[in-house]
Amino acid sequence: MTEPSTGQIIRSHGRRFVVEADGREYDCTTRGKRVDFACGDRVQILIQNREQAVIEGAEPRRSLLYRQDDWRTKIIAANVTRILFVTAAVPTPSEEFLNRCLIAAEAADIEPVIVINKADLAESADYLAALEPYRALGYPLVQLSAKLGADALLPWLHGETCVMVGQSGMGKSTLTNALLPQARARTAEISEALDSGRHTTTHATLYHLDEKSDLIDSPGLQEFGLKHLKATDLIHYFPEMRPLIGQCRFHNCTHRAEPGCAIKQAAEAGKIRPFRLNLLQRLTNELL
Ligand code: GDP
Ligand code: ZN
Repeated sequence: MTEPSTGQIIRSHGRRFVVEADGREYDCTTRGKRVDFACGDRVQILIQNREQAVIEGAEPRRSLLYRQDDWRTKIIAANVTRILFVTAAVPTPSEEFLNRCLIAAEAADIEPVIVINKADLAESADYLAALEPYRALGYPLVQLSAKLGADALLPWLHGETCVMVGQSGMGKSTLTNALLPQARARTAEISEALDSGRHTTTHATLYHLDEKSDLIDSPGLQEFGLKHLKATDLIHYFPEMRPLIGQCRFHNCTHRAEPGCAIKQAAEAGKIRPFRLNLLQRLTNELL
């Protein structure tokens, strides 16, 4: 019996995974019906030959991100340490979309960075005012123009495993391409190979930016799923509400219609933005 080797999943398509181990890439299947592995997972594999191996198990994860596919929740990436939320100076970003992403990041305990792309298209700095409340909550903002390069992102990528999300058209692939000129060609190649089959599968690819920094590219990914969250945990993911945890009159307050709700009182006092309270209440309705 050969000993298992340790490696990392660098590509996932459906039930198949590519694992990098000792400088080689292995096409891997999993044992039985187990498919709950994801790009970024550190795994033990049993090597069968120079190209193939079987995944035996995964190490505990630093973090896990999900995507919502109709009614199913799927794992998209493991061990991500930073989310780049890519938005644009023009047109003004969707606040709903941004907020859902921030909550997914908080729930996964991953630091988000708000990346404002297309700064070259803005005639004034008004777009910054719209994002100022998020800076005030402690989320870093980075402005750049992907057309001119992605260097402004480098300090945020160093030593991290990043993933980019954002609505389509915001410039994710332009940024990925600026960071990793080889990425787009490879992604296109893989998509083509997959599309020729019967199933088109969402996939993710991990690229090494340098020895310590990785970028997980998942071209179809726009938004992370929130359906796996518990309604009662939601206020933990709103930094401005965290200090008020446990201060509502009812310990199981849902912050909707209950009297003596500390969250609603703070909103009435102008300490929490109405949009954020409303979002908390809507997400609570969705999850309960
Ligand atoms: P994605 O859907 O988020 O991957 O967006 P793309 O990277 O495909 O970019 C969408 C469009 O915006 C393309 O036509 C890009 O050329 C353009 N674009 C991307 N970044 C910039 C930028 O910094 N400035 C300008 N003016 N256009 C950009
Ligand atoms: Zn309450």
